[in-house]
Amino acid sequence: MNKNKSTQSVLVTGGAGYIGSHTCKALAKNGFFPVVYDNLSNGHEWAVKWGALQVGDVRDTKKLVSIIEKYKPIAVMHFAASIEIAESVNNPELFYENNVGGIDSLLKAMFETGINNLVFSSSCAVYGAPKELPISEICPIAPTNPYGENKAEAEQMIRDTHKSTGLSAICLRYFNAAGADPDGELGEAHEPESHLIPILLDKVALKDFDAKVYGSDYNTPDGTCLRDFVHVSDLADAHILAMKKLLNNGQYYSEYNLGNGRPYSVKEVIECVKSVTNHDFNYQILDRRSGDVPVLMADSSKAIKELSWQPKFNSLKSIIETAWKWTLNNEFN
Ligand code: NAD
Repeated sequence: MNKNKSTQSVLVTGGAGYIGSHTCKALAKNGFFPVVYDNLSNGHEWAVKWGALQVGDVRDTKKLVSIIEKYKPIAVMHFAASIEIAESVNNPELFYENNVGGIDSLLKAMFETGINNLVFSSSCAVYGAPKELPISEICPIAPTNPYGENKAEAEQMIRDTHKSTGLSAICLRYFNAAGADPDGELGEAHEPESHLIPILLDKVALKDFDAKVYGSDYNTPDGTCLRDFVHVSDLADAHILAMKKLLNNGQYYSEYNLGNGRPYSVKEVIECVKSVTNHDFNYQILDRRSGDVPVLMADSSKAIKELSWQPKFNSLKSIIETAWKWTLNNEFN
């Protein structure tokens, strides 16, 4: 995709990754030109199908400034981060350096170039294990792992910058991203994969029927953790709506939860994968994993009301169907 002179650019850090690449597709569909800035540590060149790719690290402020000066984006969407919670427990320094160092560098580059609109990929991990469900934006910030701490710290830096410089920003707190582009053009391809649904689907596709469940003694109806899955294309739509809100509202700051509000247990996910793929398989119950919380369940009414967000994939089955289509068509042919 070449840039038309009148098309407005949007800088997408981490746009070669899972959620960022789906958002680039949505940006192009909405008439914007995505400029992906990614160090390809966990992303893929093949996932950059819309707009331009600039390979670089977000911690390299000088390079970020030169890319911003070249493309003059109207906004920045910041996806680039280290994402695996268990790894953050084992290697917190790496996470602080990349996730807090990354936003620090980006804020400096935005300030230097006068770019004023930021949509930040935050996470429900900022809430830790809240006592009240569903989780709304007014729940206390109480992360239980370094990854969640990073996101909370990044949000605080963004809020402080909003107050001091007038930066306009929205922090989107996603629950569990899942599924794949319904047209089959993109999907989840982490290496190694740490997310439940693609792990199970890969196993079915590779005929390696040995799934693992971490903990079956949680205080939940079937003893396994409950998670609120949200389709990646619905997340992409929310980014467009958030960016438009920033473009239309002058100096603005807010946070929004993004989830479906109906959590599913790990065992329910396994049963749904069996049904969608039409394959049976066994699983091993292992000890709980460090950093996991028992239940996550979003109250996304603020995003629905204030951003007019309307998630289209609100059943687990519809989410898994898109991921299964991607797994079959794109990973194993
Ligand atoms: P991903 O790993 O697929 O994408 C992240 C991208 O950032 C990758 O392409 C990687 O190469 C790039 N990157 C990492 N560090 C970088 C750096 N220093 N400089 C430049 N590029 C760098 O992850 P994802 O699942 O698409 O997640 C995107 C964002 O959403 C992350 O910030 C993540 O924390 C957040 N998030 C994800 C989920 C989820 O369920 N996947 C949930 C909540 C929040």
